[in-house]
Amino acid sequence: MKFRIKNQDSQLRTGIVRTEHGKFETPAFIPVATLASVRGLDSRDLKKLKVDVILANTYHLYLRPGDELIRRRGGLHRFMNYDKTIITDSGGFQVFSLGFGMEHGVGKIADNIFLEGLRNKNFRGDKWAKVDEKGVSFKNPLTGEIVRLTPEKSMEIQSNLGADIIFTFDECTSPLSDKRYTEEALERTHRWEERCLESYDRKQSLFGIVQGGEYRDLRIRSARFVADKDFAGYGIGGSLGKSKEDMHNILEWVIPVLPEEKPRHLLGIGAVEDIFNSVERGVDMFDCVAPTRWARRGHLYVSPEAGGTVENKFRINIRNAGFREDDEPVDKSCNCFVCKNYSRSYLRHLQSAEDLTYFRLASYHNVNFMLRFMEKIRDSINNNYFRELKKEWLGY
Ligand SMILES: [Zn+2]
Repeated sequence: MKFRIKNQDSQLRTGIVRTEHGKFETPAFIPVATLASVRGLDSRDLKKLKVDVILANTYHLYLRPGDELIRRRGGLHRFMNYDKTIITDSGGFQVFSLGFGMEHGVGKIADNIFLEGLRNKNFRGDKWAKVDEKGVSFKNPLTGEIVRLTPEKSMEIQSNLGADIIFTFDECTSPLSDKRYTEEALERTHRWEERCLESYDRKQSLFGIVQGGEYRDLRIRSARFVADKDFAGYGIGGSLGKSKEDMHNILEWVIPVLPEEKPRHLLGIGAVEDIFNSVERGVDMFDCVAPTRWARRGHLYVSPEAGGTVENKFRINIRNAGFREDDEPVDKSCNCFVCKNYSRSYLRHLQSAEDLTYFRLASYHNVNFMLRFMEKIRDSINNNYFRELKKEWLGY
């Protein structure tokens, strides 16, 4: 993998990442293909949308259909017939959050439920994850059997999946973890990262992950640790604190410590406002399930021209009665085939009828929206109007 910076203005920058499967421009929004599909879309859609890079989840693919099965099919690229860059995460985040999150209906931000379990070593009911120096044991939510993940195993799975860019196996702490636990987890994660460096498949490019929760000294310590190692790039992971301000602080502590010539990936973040504020602080890559997840729930992205604001998070809820007889497209400034051909009224109808067509159209529009939004961001950096664009969208 190669990274070249195109334009730079203090922390703001555009660049190009090249892998064996082509190139993608940064700052990049990377759609998530959890189970080897960007939900609702197929690889022809991805081609039409000009999706140059996707991120698939190691945890989910390991449990189903299994990394060995995918390896026998020639790896993820062939299995899903997608010939551009693929990134896989390490499975760490899901082991520590989803095993419990799925049961408790919590979302991306890990809550304290699973950590309480880890701290007390109380395995309540039939769902738990237990961390030790070597790795993590957890219950497979599909079969109930105990599964073991270690740094070496995560590297092996990611090698079988065959992504271009992979991540180190880390322990993800929650915003509610205290400092002592966060520090313990951080030290363990650093030892795991060294083991990943020793065992990863040299055909792939390995990104290290900066942890440390919302604690300044821990974040800086972690950033220095990974900056000293031979990683192809850096993920900023774990709890990003309790507020947007915490997240901004974390980026301002960490990014100046990381080598300038390597890309920085803010894991799991992808809202419009967060992207503006993170790009401004030097983030090059984002991944998030938000576009397709929101689409399924009826939320469609809109630009300021079509009523998008910080307050409505640049989304309309197509289920609102006000759209029943609305003949306008979802977003009149959007160039996607959904907006060119169908009205809000029609989409609202399909959504309320739970027609599968709705899921595809809504997902297509939302993914297109994010990609075209990132094109605008890159153009604004290359042509020196990022701050004007930010003001126009966010009002500050
Ligand atoms: Zn559209």
